[in-house]
Amino acid sequence: MNFHIITIFPKIFDSYFSESIVKRAREKKLIDIKIHNLRDYTADKHKTVDDTPYGGGAGMVLKIEPIWRCVQFLSSKLKAQSSKVRKTRVILFSAKGKRYTQADAKRLAKYDNLILICGRYEGVDERVAKYLADEEISIGEYVLTGGEIPAMAIVDSITRLVPGVLGNVESPKDESFSKKGYLEYPQYTKPAEFQKWKVPEILLSGNHKEIDIWRKKNSKLIKPRVKSKIQGSNAK
Ligand code: SAM
Repeated sequence: MNFHIITIFPKIFDSYFSESIVKRAREKKLIDIKIHNLRDYTADKHKTVDDTPYGGGAGMVLKIEPIWRCVQFLSSKLKAQSSKVRKTRVILFSAKGKRYTQADAKRLAKYDNLILICGRYEGVDERVAKYLADEEISIGEYVLTGGEIPAMAIVDSITRLVPGVLGNVESPKDESFSKKGYLEYPQYTKPAEFQKWKVPEILLSGNHKEIDIWRKKNSKLIKPRVKSKIQGSNAK
């Protein structure tokens, strides 16, 4: 799996992609991540990537020309790399895009190349969504400053699904969302008691059959939750 990220802030990715599972996956060459600075695809001496919106209004909008040049360059390079047709998907990050789910991670993990376009400022010239991108993805109903955090989230969630990235112990097959509506059972570790908060007795029993039953039952009981009361404050 090859990820190509188009951004005006290439350094943002240095730290996250150099740690933990993503780092190991890169070292083992199970994935490759290339960061492309959009400014390298501009044609003027000021390396202009944005302009004011038609119709007026606040802020700046990312221009189509450098994005088009970068996507064209990558697409032709990727096609030339192999005689067999390699599957490439172009994704634009957008708050108004389709909400990203684990099912999308599984679907996108089947591509050979993902070209990820990170917006900034007021967003991206709509013609990018209309003519260049295969799909627009949102990572939730809130507005971020740019598409770089969504790009990290997508790279991370897809990398976990690439065969060989996770060991057996960390297998993604029983994780939350691995099946429709499934949420993982509660996990505990040592100590068995902390501040009088106890780990459920059954998990200390060593009876694996009973533990499996408990886990199945409890995974069904879990609902995505929000803590209603922040401890140590009066917040409700
Ligand atoms: N004016 C836009 C709007 O109201 O929808 C928001 C633009 S936002 C400040 C700048 C860029 O951040 C977007 O073009 C997009 O690439 C990215 N972005 C922001 N929120 C996002 C989200 N929830 N999911 C995916 N990308 C997001």
